[in-house]
Amino acid sequence: MTGSKDVCDLLVIGGGINGCGVARDAAGRGLSVTLAEMSDLASATSSASTKLFHGGLRYLEYFEFRLVRESLIERETLLRAMPHIAWPMRFVLPYHKDMRFESDTPTSKLLGIFMPWMRGRRPAWLIRLGLLLYDNLGGRKILPGTTTVNLTTAPEGRPLQDRFAKAYEYSDCWVEDSRLVVLNARDAEARGARILTRTQVMSAEQKDGIWHVTLKDITTDETQIVRARIMVNAGGPWVSDVIRHAIHTKSKDSVRLVRGSHIVTRRLFDHDKCYFFQGTDGRIMFAIPYETDFTLIGTTDQEHDDPDTPPVCTPQEQAYMVDFVNAYLKDPISVDDIVWTYSGVRPLFDDGSSSATAATRDYTLKVDRTVGAPLINIFGGKITTYRRLAEGVMGLVSKEMDGLPADWTAGVPLPGGDFAVDGVDAKIADLGRDYPFLTTVWARRLIRAYGTDAARLLNGATSAGDLGQAFGATLTAAEVDWLMDREYARTAEDVLWRRSKLGLRLSKEQAETLGNYMRARDTGRGSAAAE
Ligand SMILES: Cc1cc2nc3c(=O)[nH]c(=O)nc-3n(C[C@H](O)[C@H](O)[C@H](O)COP(=O)(O)OP(=O)(O)OC[C@H]3O[C@@H](n4cnc5c(N)ncnc54)[C@H](O)[C@@H]3O)c2cc1C
Repeated sequence: MTGSKDVCDLLVIGGGINGCGVARDAAGRGLSVTLAEMSDLASATSSASTKLFHGGLRYLEYFEFRLVRESLIERETLLRAMPHIAWPMRFVLPYHKDMRFESDTPTSKLLGIFMPWMRGRRPAWLIRLGLLLYDNLGGRKILPGTTTVNLTTAPEGRPLQDRFAKAYEYSDCWVEDSRLVVLNARDAEARGARILTRTQVMSAEQKDGIWHVTLKDITTDETQIVRARIMVNAGGPWVSDVIRHAIHTKSKDSVRLVRGSHIVTRRLFDHDKCYFFQGTDGRIMFAIPYETDFTLIGTTDQEHDDPDTPPVCTPQEQAYMVDFVNAYLKDPISVDDIVWTYSGVRPLFDDGSSSATAATRDYTLKVDRTVGAPLINIFGGKITTYRRLAEGVMGLVSKEMDGLPADWTAGVPLPGGDFAVDGVDAKIADLGRDYPFLTTVWARRLIRAYGTDAARLLNGATSAGDLGQAFGATLTAAEVDWLMDREYARTAEDVLWRRSKLGLRLSKEQAETLGNYMRARDTGRGSAAAE
C-alpha cells in the first residue's frame, strides 16, 4: 500500500484534531503519511474548544439529527479508547419559564406556526422531549440517562438563585482536547507516519498526477519538497486560504469563521457537575468544573474575518459571559474574577445560514480535482466527530486507491488508554503505591495526562529528586523531557497550555525558567545531532 520510496500516499495539511485523526487512521491502514503543522500541534481551534464529547443538545433545535446521533454514539466509543483523558460528566440544566429560543431555529418557527402563543418560548415539555431524544438516539451503555433534580434540596441548587427550583440532569463527556490531538499524532507516528511540526505548507503543484508540495521549516526557513499522491487539507480556519493561496484550485467551497471565547475563574461551586445555562437571548452557556480549582465558562459566537488575526476574548465577550452566569448565580461574579481567557475560531462549512449560532456544526468533506491530483478538503467537524470524520476521509481515499483495509480505530486505545473505562481511580492508587513519593494530586495529574504511560515516564524513580529539576506545581525535568522527546513540545507554552494546563499554576518566573531549560535542551540536542 505504501507509495514508491519518495512519493508518500497522503500529505496531511494541519495538526489539529482532524489532521492528526486522519494521519493516525491512514497510517494504521498501511498508508505512508506525512503531516505538516505550521505551528504546534493543536495550536489553533483544537486547544480552544469547550472540551466536550457531546451530542450537542442544542443542535436538536436545528434538526441536526444526523450529527447529534453520530456524536451521541461516538461519545462512548471515544470514552473506551481514552479513559485517561476523557470522562463522563453530568450536566444540570436549571429550568425557568423565561427561557427563550433563538427566534430563527427551525423548532421555534414550527412552534410559532402550530402554537403561536408559544413563539420564542422554550417550554419545559420541549426540553424534556429533547432530552428524551438525546437519551435514546445514541444507544447509551455507559452513560446514565436524564433525571430531574429538586434544586431546593440538592447540593447543585446551592450556588443558584432561589428562583430556580427544578433542573434536568443529563450526561455528556469531558475530554482534554489538546492532549487528544497529541496522542493521535503519537499513535500515527508509532504506526509509521511522519509528523512535522513548525512546518508550513507553502504551495503545491501537480505534475503527472502527483502533488509536489513545498514545505518550510518556520524555525530555520529551510524548504523541502515532498511528493504525495493525495493531499488532505485539514487546515481548520485556514482551509480556504490553503485552497486559494497555496494550491490555487478553482473550488468554490468556503469556510465561515465563528469565534468562540471562554473565561476561567476560581472555582465557583464545590461539586463535579456542569451547569447548562439558557439565556433570555436563546443562547446557552456552560459553567464547568475545571482543573480542580477553577470554573470554565463559555462560549460565544462572533463572526471572525481573518484566520491570521489571532482570536482573543474581547472585553464585550467577557462582560457578556459574566452577565449570563450572574442571571443564575446566587453570589455574582465580576470581570475581576477572571483569571484566564482563551478563544478559538470554528471553521464551519459556509451553508449560507443567517446567524453564526445557526451555521451548521456538521462536517463536510469535498474532493477537489480541479488541479488534477486529488485534494480532500475538510470543512467543520467537532472534536467529538474527529474519528468518524477520519473514517469518512479514508472512504474517499479508498476510492482513489482502489480499496483500503477496513475501518479499525473504534475500540483501539490511544497511547496510555489501555485500561478499563472506569479504571482511573485504580490506576491512580497503583501509581501512588509504586511511587510513594507522589502526592495524590500529582499521581492523579499524571494518570489523567499519560494513563498507563505515567509509569514509563517515571521510569523507576524512587524520589522526586530522581525526576530532575522541579519547575513548580509537580512539573519536573523528567516530564518535560518526555514531552519534548515524544510529544513534539518545543516551547514553555506548548508544555504549559497544551500538553498540560499548568500555565494556570506556574508563576511568570517559573515559566521563564522552564523556557530556558527547554531552549538549552533543544540547542544541546541540535549540536549533538550535528556532531
Ligand atoms: C469555542 C469553541 C468551542 C468548541 N467546543 C467544542 C466542544 O465542546 N466539543 C466538540 O466536539 N467540538 C467543539 N468545538 C469544535 C472543534 O474545536 C473544532 O471543530 C476542531 O477543533 C477543528 O479542528 P481542525 O483540526 O479542523 O482545526 P484546527 O485545530 O484549527 O487545526 C488546523 C491546523 O492547521 C494548521 N495549518 C493551517 N494552514 C496550514 C499550512 N499552510 N501548513 C501547515 N499547517 C497549517 C493550523 O496551524 C492548525 O493547527 C469548539 C470550537 C470552538 C471554537
